[in-house]
Amino acid sequence: MTAQTQAQDPDTGLAVEITGLTKSFGSLQVLRGIDLAVRPGEVVCIIGPSGSGKSTLLRCVNLLEEPNGGTVRVHGTELTHPDVDIDAARRQIGMVFQSFNLFAHLNVLNNLTVAQRKVLRRGQAEAEQVARANLAKVGLAEKAGAMPAQLSGGQQQRVAIARALSMDPKVMLFDEPTSALDPELVGDVLGVMRQLADEGMTMLVVTHEMQFARDVADRVLFMDGGVVVEEGPAAQVIGDPQHERTKSFLSRVL
Ligand code: ADP
Ligand code: MG
Repeated sequence: MTAQTQAQDPDTGLAVEITGLTKSFGSLQVLRGIDLAVRPGEVVCIIGPSGSGKSTLLRCVNLLEEPNGGTVRVHGTELTHPDVDIDAARRQIGMVFQSFNLFAHLNVLNNLTVAQRKVLRRGQAEAEQVARANLAKVGLAEKAGAMPAQLSGGQQQRVAIARALSMDPKVMLFDEPTSALDPELVGDVLGVMRQLADEGMTMLVVTHEMQFARDVADRVLFMDGGVVVEEGPAAQVIGDPQHERTKSFLSRVL
């Protein structure tokens, strides 16, 4: 058996499967045993107070952080398997951060083509075609030649989403994608995310946008202190929370 097939377990049919995930930074235990199964096409919103481990959880899903224990599987590939081809596995996962992280010295089109060419080995023509299709999808077809600094924060974040989509990810991770935006720019970014959800993209979204979570999420997870305190349909977790810690958090953010 090759290394890749040892790490391959296609039986579950799940997009993301996390079991017993733990992560510490020194003596600080940030994730204390997270279990999460996400079906293909499912949108899961993760809410919770600052410092509860939300970003660390997302970062463990694409191994920007190395977990201390537990397993992470993405479409059957165990990312935590010692023999896994990490780069190949990561290619299945797109991530969008609070800070847009565009390449400041590249125009929008080149921001979208560079990784396609270097990582996916696409030719310039194909990479541009994919890039333009994704720019159109986020409503920025006419900005292909613009430099990032010429765009609003909301436009830059939509470019960042288009860039991630250009790598044909099977799962998209969003870490507070609208938290750095002026309020009037939030709606456009959430609109693009809503459209992606409607198209069947599997999404894990850390967000403080409770209305978005209510409208779009198939499931909401409330995290606190490195554990999932409560999870369920959005209407249940946000509308009728059962745990004291969830109620207290929601009373502060709603
Ligand atoms: P959240 O996204 O819910 O605000 P994080 O996952 O960013 O929480 O952080 C959880 C805890 O882990 C915090 O106490 C944070 O300070 C700590 N932490 C996160 N990343 C690191 C790191 N690279 N080194 C040390 N501590 C970290
Ligand atoms: Mg965070």
